[in-house]
Amino acid sequence: MKSLGEFFAHAVVLEEEAAERYEQLAASMASYDNAIAQELFLIMAKFARMHLDETVTRSREAGELPDLKPWQYEWPGGESPEAWWLAEDPDYSMSPNEALRVALSAEQLAHAFYAQVARTAIDPGVRKIAQTFADEEANHVAEIERWLRRHPEADEDWSESQP
Ligand code: ZN
Repeated sequence: MKSLGEFFAHAVVLEEEAAERYEQLAASMASYDNAIAQELFLIMAKFARMHLDETVTRSREAGELPDLKPWQYEWPGGESPEAWWLAEDPDYSMSPNEALRVALSAEQLAHAFYAQVARTAIDPGVRKIAQTFADEEANHVAEIERWLRRHPEADEDWSESQP
């Protein structure tokens, strides 16, 4: 991660992927009448869209973004954010706890990515902005952890309360 441009190119892909995956999850929960999981994923999608807009706005400060080829991206473990998500179809009867865990692991991976850049980038400007992004993801993680405390694993009656 050598330049601000490279950093923003990664952040745009990461946030776009997150927004799209959350929207897909919300749509599939809607088709199964799982209204609470749908709502949760819509909230997460909104966070990701906001973060994406902010990323695009801030990236303008870095000028034109480099047009990276897929193999030029440096994702942790060599895996793109797309691969971080569950590949299979989501379980339609997902409980609040399960839906929150899907969101939690996505936010933790995003946080880990930004935190790693904040620690390892040579350019101090890149380290600084990556730390800002890492802090925002840490807030998302903390928010989901709060929700998880309200919906412990034993919280089974949720899907049964669906119409
Ligand atoms: Zn996030």
